[in-house]
Amino acid sequence: MTADWQRAVKILDSADQVCLACHVRPDADALGSMLALALALGGRPGGAASVVASFGDAPFAVPGILRFLPGTGLLTPPAAFPARPQVMVTLDAASIGRLGPLAASAAAAGELIVLDHHASSTRFGTVNLVDPDAAATAVLAHQLISELGIGLTRDIALGLYAGLVTDTGSFKFASTTPAVHELAARLLATGIDPGVVSRHLYDTAPFGYLGMLAAALQRAVLDPAACGGLGLVWTTVTRADRAPADLPLDAAEPVIDEVRKTGEAEVAVVLKETDAGTWEVSVRSKERVDVGAACTALGGGGHARAAGFSASGRPDAAVRALETVLAGR
Ligand code: MN
Repeated sequence: MTADWQRAVKILDSADQVCLACHVRPDADALGSMLALALALGGRPGGAASVVASFGDAPFAVPGILRFLPGTGLLTPPAAFPARPQVMVTLDAASIGRLGPLAASAAAAGELIVLDHHASSTRFGTVNLVDPDAAATAVLAHQLISELGIGLTRDIALGLYAGLVTDTGSFKFASTTPAVHELAARLLATGIDPGVVSRHLYDTAPFGYLGMLAAALQRAVLDPAACGGLGLVWTTVTRADRAPADLPLDAAEPVIDEVRKTGEAEVAVVLKETDAGTWEVSVRSKERVDVGAACTALGGGGHARAAGFSASGRPDAAVRALETVLAGR
């Protein structure tokens, strides 16, 4: 164990209360890792510390596709989160701003343990357990749970497995190392059903999703000259696309996985219109372009092959801005 990990274990072992927060609009890695750690800390034998877990969304609701995760009953709305936690742990948040309204609690925390795998991490903690080589924050959450000497239960394992599946693209990305499969094996050995994870995360959508997807795909634009000739494909998912079936913004999340199949484009972009009329921009690359650095330059962040940023105004202008940044690399 390095000094940072030793410090984190010591802090968590002696804390009366541990407050956990993951990034806003959590994905399965953020929420799954946080709930796994919450269950692990809360289940410690012999006077377990009290655990608070939250994320800064308003209104506060667990995204529909993540409601199957064990431990959602442990969640506290951000308004009830301690203003000055003695000990706070953030999960999968590359910067303090990614905590939304919980950033103030993080800034005021006595000890702040940052658990994250983003290369763009600003290491804003008093203890930074940041490893860009980790395939998911779930890998680091598992390491922390095991360094704390806490055994894996099925419920803990399911949250970690969901994070691992999500951030490795269902074990398809280059981040899928032998160690990733070894961790997956240990998690599966608790008796969890991997089918539950893929069914909830990937293989279920309301009927209205098909219409939204069709509208978005029909508008896709291929720019073969972008990225120095490597090609860029992009489209939008508008509020109007989501309206007929009353779909929430997170229903647009899987669209990028269709768009990025385009063989003629190294980079794929989907701009999702929020209820407020701004754009959340998802960017993916195949193997050559570092979209993480480009999105960081545009005020967002992420990984080399999967990243994002926010924009307002015309969607084509946001794509041009991205192309300009990518052309400068
Ligand atoms: Mn992650």
